[in-house]
Amino acid sequence: MNEFALIDSVFKRLEATSRDALTRRDGGLPPVLGIGDDGALLTVPPGQQLVVAADTLAAGVHFPFNTPPADIGYKALAVNLSDLAAMGAQPAWFTLCLTLPRQASAGMEAWLRQFCAGMEALIAAEPICLVGGDTTSGPLTISVQVMGLVPAGQALCRRGARAGDDLYVSGQVGAAAAALQWVLEGRPDRCPPALLQRLNRPRPRVALGLALRDKAHACIDISDGLLADLNHVLAASGCGARLDLATIPAVSELPLEAAITGGDDYELCFSAPPSQREALQALAVTLDLPLTRIGEVSAEPGLVTSAGEPLTASGYQHF
Ligand code: ADP
Ligand code: MG
Repeated sequence: MNEFALIDSVFKRLEATSRDALTRRDGGLPPVLGIGDDGALLTVPPGQQLVVAADTLAAGVHFPFNTPPADIGYKALAVNLSDLAAMGAQPAWFTLCLTLPRQASAGMEAWLRQFCAGMEALIAAEPICLVGGDTTSGPLTISVQVMGLVPAGQALCRRGARAGDDLYVSGQVGAAAAALQWVLEGRPDRCPPALLQRLNRPRPRVALGLALRDKAHACIDISDGLLADLNHVLAASGCGARLDLATIPAVSELPLEAAITGGDDYELCFSAPPSQREALQALAVTLDLPLTRIGEVSAEPGLVTSAGEPLTASGYQHF
């Protein structure tokens, strides 16, 4: 099967299912023109801003070579939706650029169908519509670009933290890093299923991001480790922070230091003024998602424990 036939059979189907999911969601706006032309045509509603983010996953770097294609498809979209969540954006559209190793067309088609099934599993829960992409051959690489909408001026940015804000993290910290240990040892069957789920099928915190638009001052999603990503917020905001290590909701399967420096959590870390404490507690109940206060933003730069000791460990870095 040549490239064009693949695009027709596989991506047009994914386009159709994702368009259905998006239009079923309240206010979901399908593209004016999707796959099939030289570009997609999209209308941004008046008063809204477009949030654009992209993330690439390369085999052997971001996932082991033997990862099931459905998990790869799920995660390629999940990590991108997580960026929209961190910006407080409502997911709308995405493009998919695939670099695929050459192989017999039957194998390629089977691989692509499973890959798309993984993406569709996430799209059913977090609607977003495929509007285009590109397909080339080479070492397996998946590059997704997502577009989301936010009322003008309401996006959550890294630069908004202020001294006196509370610092929060959603969910649990270190689950993916803990699961990765079992996977790298070749024993994923021994890993607690809830941890493996956070590694292979992380649920991006889209609903949380939307609810934080009018509550948080700054927000980031945790992809490189809590400490590293929190440092990005502090640097962008020109602040420091005190972290109460005892309050961090870390998994028990890892030492705390590994949990707060391990990547791939896709939880949100955000700052909010103390006046939002009750609203955030109520939100945690509504979303059935723990929102834990782990410290506070300070005017002095640097990250320290509540005892004043500097925290220097950083997260995963590619270069
Ligand atoms: P062009 O040569 O004009 O870039 P392509 O042949 O690359 O066109 O793509 C034709 C159409 O198929 C375009 O609308 C493009 O967005 C879409 N497309 C190609 N690859 C993918 C993909 N992996 N996922 C979704 N759409 C794709
Ligand atoms: Mg092209």
